[in-house]
Amino acid sequence: AFGPCLHENGPALWRAALPQSAATQHKYDRGHPLIRGGGSLTGAARLAARAARRIGAGLLTVIAPEAALSAYRADWPGAMALPDDRWGGLLADRRIGPVLIGPGGGVGAPLRDAVAAVRAAGKSLVLDADGLASYAGQPGDLAGLLDADCVLTPHQGEFDKLFGKGEGARLARARQAAALVGAVVVLKGPDTIIAAPDGRAAINANAPPTLATGGTGDVLAGMVLGLKAQGMPGFAAACAAVWLHGAAAERVGAGLIAEDVIDALLGVLDRL
Ligand code: AMP
Ligand code: MG
Repeated sequence: AFGPCLHENGPALWRAALPQSAATQHKYDRGHPLIRGGGSLTGAARLAARAARRIGAGLLTVIAPEAALSAYRADWPGAMALPDDRWGGLLADRRIGPVLIGPGGGVGAPLRDAVAAVRAAGKSLVLDADGLASYAGQPGDLAGLLDADCVLTPHQGEFDKLFGKGEGARLARARQAAALVGAVVVLKGPDTIIAAPDGRAAINANAPPTLATGGTGDVLAGMVLGLKAQGMPGFAAACAAVWLHGAAAERVGAGLIAEDVIDALLGVLDRL
């Protein structure tokens, strides 16, 4: 049964928190998120970047090793790709944030340092993939760093590596994890659980099995980032992104590849 703090995810939960577009808006009013991209593997960050833009972020920058910049720049003339040595300057720029860490980039100390730097700069964080794996078995190291607006997006395998293979139902485990790290935890799967550190939780059930294909998680991370960049609180942004992701996939139907989910958002956003 759904208790007072447990919701079935759907637009009623977050529609009022969606970014509003006004006729007078400027691109600078629509958020400017930053993605830390990989050097050799660029696909994940490219998918996340396109998804963040599609969901309404006004500007988007990817920062990546110099050698990879041409791959990012070839992908989309409408976004910016800057070399690694701009990291400090971008973090100091108050117009920029939140930051996505983990789609590519490699597991280890450099990503942990990047997480710490983002938080020291006072920016919000979305952590996925390599970013999560960089804290495997050490979720306590994240606890002091995050706040309730930060969002972690593990699938079950990433969740187990980060928090340990625990007992109990996924819902309870996701809630415990969110309370432990003090951030929103999106436990992905056929049903996705979104848990906030204050005890709120939502179960999302609109995702079709066609989403079980490479790159769809990167698209979701970019969507969360893009909504947060436009001012949505972490829990609402995560719930909205997960539902819109499922609804977009539903529109695509059979033969879905990750890129399609991004483009199908056009039709879903129109109908909200
Ligand atoms: P990742 O594993 O990081 O690539 O993320 C995969 C994405 O696809 C997540 O948003 C999952 O919730 C979703 N997904 C994976 N498998 C299924 C499934 N069988 N049914 C519905 N959604 C799924
Ligand atoms: Mg993934």
